[in-house]
Amino acid sequence: MYTASFLYMGGDPDVKNKRDVRQFAIIGLGRFGSNMAKALTKMGYEVLAIDKNMERVQEFSNEFTHVVQADATDENALRELGILNFDVVVVAIGEDMQANVLTTLQLKEIGAPYIVTTARDALQIKLLEKIGADRVVSPERDMARRVAYNLASTSVMDYIELSPQFSIVEIAVPAAFQDKTLMESDIRAKYGINVVAIKRHDDLIISPRPTERLQKGDVAIVVGSNDGINSLEELK
Ligand code: ATP
Repeated sequence: MYTASFLYMGGDPDVKNKRDVRQFAIIGLGRFGSNMAKALTKMGYEVLAIDKNMERVQEFSNEFTHVVQADATDENALRELGILNFDVVVVAIGEDMQANVLTTLQLKEIGAPYIVTTARDALQIKLLEKIGADRVVSPERDMARRVAYNLASTSVMDYIELSPQFSIVEIAVPAAFQDKTLMESDIRAKYGINVVAIKRHDDLIISPRPTERLQKGDVAIVVGSNDGINSLEELK
C-alpha cells in the first residue's frame, strides 16, 4: 500500500502549483474508469487511479500520475491514500454494485468534497443519490440516449442531457429561421431556448449577437428545456 506522502512526490510541480488545477481520483479501472483517467490526463490534470486488481494497476502504471492498488471499500485505505485532498473522486466500479455503493458511502462518511459515481439502472441511480453522491452518471444509458436521439431525429446532430428537463443540442437551423436574424426568429421568447453558438462551414460563432442572420446550412448549438427543443425540432 502506498501512503499519502507518496502521492505528492510525482507530477509536474508547475501543474501542482496552479491554484485552479483540479485533482481527480478515479476508483476502478474498467473501461469507463480507465478512459476517464486517460481523458483527464490528456487534458493535463493530475490523476490518482486506484484499483484493487494488481493486473489492472500494472497495465496502467505508466499512464497516469499515480496508479495504486487498494480496496476502496476500506475506509482506512482511502484515508491513507489522501483521498480527501482530491477535488473530485469518481467511483467507476461497474460490475460489483456492492463495492460501488460501499465505496461511495465510505467517501461520503469521511467527507470527500465531490463524489461522482456510476450506476447501471434507475434503482442504482436512486440509491446512490440517497447515499449522497454529488453526481450519478450512467454511462450505458447516457450514451444510448445520445445515440438514439441522434438516430431518431433528422435535425439533431448531437445531444447532451444537462438534467432530466434541460439539454444542449446541436441542431440544423430550421428552414423557417433561414435568412432571419436571431432577434427576428424570436427563438428565446417563443421556445425558451438560447443559441450559444452557430457552426457555419468551418467557422464557429460563439455567443452570436441578436443581429446575427441565420443562413442555409447553419448548425445551431442551443441550450434549453427538452419541451422547447422538441418544438424547435418539429419546425420545418
Ligand atoms: P466497463 O469496463 O464497462 O467500465 P465496469 O465499469 O463494469 O465495466 P469492471 O470490469 O467492473 O468495469 O471494472 C471495475 C474495476 O473496478 C475493476 O478493474 C475492478 O478490479 C475494480 N474494483 C472492483 N472492486 C473494487 C474495489 N473494492 N476497490 C477498488 N477497485 C475495485
